[in-house]
Formats: sequence, structure tokens, C-alpha cells
Amino acid sequence: MKAALQQLTQSVFYLPSDSATDRPVLGAIQGKNQTLLVDAGNSSAHAKLFLSELKKQDLYAITSVVLTHWHWDHIFGTKEMNLFTLSSEQTKQAIEKMINYEWTDEALEERVKEGIEIQFCADMIKAEFGDNRRIEIQLPNMTINKLVRIDLGNIHCTIEHVGGDHASDSTIVYVEEENVLFLGDCLYPNLYSKTPQYTVKHTRALLQALGKYKANHYVLSHELPLSPVQYNEYIQLLAILCELTETHQGNKQNITEALSIRLNKELNEDERETIDCFVNGYID
Ligand SMILES: [Zn+2]
Repeated sequence: MKAALQQLTQSVFYLPSDSATDRPVLGAIQGKNQTLLVDAGNSSAHAKLFLSELKKQDLYAITSVVLTHWHWDHIFGTKEMNLFTLSSEQTKQAIEKMINYEWTDEALEERVKEGIEIQFCADMIKAEFGDNRRIEIQLPNMTINKLVRIDLGNIHCTIEHVGGDHASDSTIVYVEEENVLFLGDCLYPNLYSKTPQYTVKHTRALLQALGKYKANHYVLSHELPLSPVQYNEYIQLLAILCELTETHQGNKQNITEALSIRLNKELNEDERETIDCFVNGYID
């Protein structure tokens, strides 16, 4: 059963993520005059599913799509969407590098060996496309240097390149009147490094950039939308771990003990994995 379109607020819709083939959340922001989409999907099939779901809801004047970052699962549906496409300048540069790639098993495995691709993405590309790897990369039409504000008709969106460890080109979309923040994958760790990692420097800069956006709904691309309470917990954990990683100079045991005391509880699996990422980022 494929996930169906969900309505988050009066003007914001989204297609939930699907971990079976690592499909991210796709968003739609409907103004009085135009509808802006957030991310193009991981394949033509994913883009088609989203567009057909939007049609059922009678969402009109779909004119453009913004890409949150260059990773395959967010951009492979761009050609199918056939819309005016925006991204950060850095995202475009990263996508340009992929234009001449082949997507056969051999080519994917070769890039994994070279460290350009990661095994997880290679596996997920195979799972999404099967044997039919007709993947055509489409470049964005317009690039954003730092920040733009778009008027969709009574609905305004701020699109800002915020960076972070996951992908330095990460871009967010804030829907002002609806208090929705599309975060893409920007809060996730870097998965393209030798080990998954967060660095104190990039995490602090990212949290600083995100600090000015207050929302009622925070949409990360590979999970359900977060409430302000859930989001603040997420952000707080990253902020505390920046501090503890520095204080304890990347010492895993000391950081773990200090975090457990700070949170006054036994740490769960997610918290332990997040510590590992900071330790990896400190050592590397
Ligand atoms: Zn990503």
C-alpha cells in the first residue's frame, strides 16, 4: 500500500516518506496563485505518484519545485516533474557532477569502491529501479546564493541555504503564514564520510541558522513531521553534544556519562548513535 497525500495545514500537503526504497517526504505549498513543491522524488515513479496524488486533491497551478540538496532520492524525479526547478548554487554544482554517471550495478559498485557512493544508496537505487535504470539527471533552472523569498499568493516561502554535515548544500523552505519548516535532511549526520558523523563546527553553524525559524510543524525528509516539542528535543540533543564533545575532547565514555547525567535518564539507542556520530566527527 503506497502512502497517500496528507494535509499538514490549510495550504501545506505532503507525501510521507517510504523507507522500502528510501523515498523522502515530498511537500506541496499552495498559494492563491501558484503551488511550489519541495523535492522531486527518488525516481520518475515517485514523482508520478506525487503528481497524481496532488491532482486528486485538486491542487492547481503547480509551477515550480525546490530541491533541498543533491542526494539522489531528492532529485531523480526532476525530469518527470518537468517544472521550473530551484536549488542552491552548490546543489546545482553537485548535480552537474552526476550527469555523466552510469547507473548499472557495475558502475554503482565501482563508485562505492572509490568512496564516491555509499553502499546504502547503491542498494536503494537498485531497489527503487530494479533492472530498468533509465535515470536522466535534470539540472535546476535557477540557483539561490543564500536566501530568496517567494510569493505564491497570500503564502510566502523563505528558501535558505543552511548547510550542515549531512550535505553542505542543504536548503530549507519556511512557509511563513503556515508556520511549517521543511528541513530536508539537514539535521542528519554526514553519511558519505568513512563513518557517519557530526562535527561540532558545522552543527553549531546549522543550529544558529535554523534558530530564527519558529514553526508549528517541522518536516524532516525521512520521518513523520515533528511537533515543536519533538523538534526542540532533537535540536537540544545536538546542541548539548556539541558542548560535551568539546569538553570531553571526543571521549565516548565520558560524553555518554555526561549526557546521561544531563538528561537525567538512561540513554536510548538514538542518543547513543548520535554520540557515536559526534565522536567519529571529532576523531576524523
Ligand atoms: Zn540526503
